[in-house]
Amino acid sequence: MKTIGLLGGMSWESSATYYKIINRYTNELLGSQNSAKSVMVTVNFEEIEKLQHCGKWDEATQILIKACQDLQNGGADFIVICTNTMHKLLPKISPHVDVPFLHIAEATAREIVKDGNTKVLLLGTKFTMQEDFYKRVLEDFDIEVVVPNQEDMETVHKVIYNELCLGSVKDSSKKAFKKIINDTQNIEGVILGCTEIGMLIKQNDLDIKVYDTTIIHAKEAVRMAL
Ligand code: GLU
Repeated sequence: MKTIGLLGGMSWESSATYYKIINRYTNELLGSQNSAKSVMVTVNFEEIEKLQHCGKWDEATQILIKACQDLQNGGADFIVICTNTMHKLLPKISPHVDVPFLHIAEATAREIVKDGNTKVLLLGTKFTMQEDFYKRVLEDFDIEVVVPNQEDMETVHKVIYNELCLGSVKDSSKKAFKKIINDTQNIEGVILGCTEIGMLIKQNDLDIKVYDTTIIHAKEAVRMAL
């Protein structure tokens, strides 16, 4: 069994979910007392979130390079960055790290392709929805990506940072997310492209397929470790 390196803290709410899924799924596959071998480095999200919102991505990159090197030195055989947004920095992080990364959008794209779906709505932070770094990966798998309008993007972004990353799950936000998804025409699925959205939206809430990136990424990490 390989050792999974978890880069967490963005936010710790979803890192806790990763940890639970990784151990539960390992046990489901192997039985007995089996659990995952892992190391985790978690950053202080206050520092990261400030750097994101004032565009200091190079400083954030330095913090994440150091964290990944710590994971590697701690015995990680490969690294799982437990956030969609910070995959933006992966091209600048990976040259400084020797172990491989399991890309969250690639793992998600493989699931979508496996289901035979080709057109999905992407929900996440504004960085993830607006910029190219995430959508491009999906498009490389021939997946058509739809994002919400500007106003809905603002809503999703605010709920992520002001509620979900702080552990607050509100009925009003669940309703708003469901409305945004249900109002989108001609999609076969929705990507919960932020590792906290699964706290708010589950498969049972919707008629279309839900791609929860936290679950997909965590389970793929287990299969890679085994
Ligand atoms: N966890 C979130 C994501 O998956 C947002 C927090 C962050 O900005 O890293 O994008």
